[in-house]
Amino acid sequence: MTAPVRSFDHEFAPTRIVFGPGRLAEVGEELARLDTSRAMVIMSGHAPGGDTVTAALGDRAALTWHEIAQHVPVDIAERATAAARDAGVDVIVSLGGGSATGLAKAVALELEVPIVAVPTTYAGSELTPVYGTTGGQRKRTGSDERVRPRVVLYDPELTVCLPAAVTGPSTFNAMAHCFAALWASAGNPLIAALAADAVRILTTSLPVVMRNPADLDARAGLQYGAFLAGTALGATGTGLQHRISHALGGRLGLVHADTHSVVLPYVVALNAPAVPDMVSRVRPYLGDDPGRALWELAARIGLPHDLATLGATDEALDGVAADVADTPNPVPASRDTIRALLDRAYRGREWR
Ligand code: NAD
Repeated sequence: MTAPVRSFDHEFAPTRIVFGPGRLAEVGEELARLDTSRAMVIMSGHAPGGDTVTAALGDRAALTWHEIAQHVPVDIAERATAAARDAGVDVIVSLGGGSATGLAKAVALELEVPIVAVPTTYAGSELTPVYGTTGGQRKRTGSDERVRPRVVLYDPELTVCLPAAVTGPSTFNAMAHCFAALWASAGNPLIAALAADAVRILTTSLPVVMRNPADLDARAGLQYGAFLAGTALGATGTGLQHRISHALGGRLGLVHADTHSVVLPYVVALNAPAVPDMVSRVRPYLGDDPGRALWELAARIGLPHDLATLGATDEALDGVAADVADTPNPVPASRDTIRALLDRAYRGREWR
């Protein structure tokens, strides 16, 4: 039994979704739909599907950009924007994880051109209007509808080569979006339903993929779950879990997705007593204690489950707690509460 339906607001995002194995070959048709013909292709040098994009676009690929780094360093964003301007591009095709999508957003913000995003991880950035650059004197973050990708092309074949060390944490990143949506004040019953279904398909597909990375059906399950999770993220935004991940990334340089697989179980355990609707929606997949079940899932598939292993130091966690204290959250996130949570995550080899 779920909670009674309250009044709510919801806006449908104007993003076209193209989903299915092999559909990357249709990227040229998506450019034509947008009435564009001079693409900047952002992809790492070894991106899966790079050859397919090159063949599909032909001379409509006006510029190919390979320099990508996590959290979009401002100097890379500025150089990429200058190159795109010089090449006269009228559309950006990004092929890669959240870092490639993030760079596409930084360029799109300046040039006001549409993005066709082809995600190859489960990060979810492709479904949000949120952008950010880091470093230098001109750090910018914000939300702007002009950077929300107009087309997202999900081709699960591109994820078959995603290493286990990225697959597991990236799936936890997607699950973090689901839990944030399940307790967000901006949440609504539509988003709660799809977030819960995302938890179902992510938790059932992940162990299969970790055993057999080439299982295309399970890979499609993970990517469909990531699509649902990203939709939830785009509708409700982030909360405490993401603030902690960003503070750990910013202060200690930890890899974004890795922090989710370590911290998410503790944030879910913290909030569970205050959000019975969340617990009842995920109970079929995670039982009565979803925080513990997430920790056990991470342990079962061999993910790191303590911040010490990721490279955090105990002393630095005081600063992280100070950064995120008082973030709106179902259970008040006092500095002491967050510090205690981080302590558990730091020593997280046993669930306690
Ligand atoms: P990432 O894009 O840095 O990718 C992680 C690693 O996986 C990289 O080394 C990449 O080259 C590799 N990789 C990606 N796809 C691959 C594939 N199919 N096969 C083999 N290797 C592959 O990391 P991420 O976790 O996807 O994204 C994290 C970034 O996204 C962070 O900067 C985070 O802040 C941002 N993000 C932004 C939003 C938003 O709404 N703006 C949402 C979620 C995440």
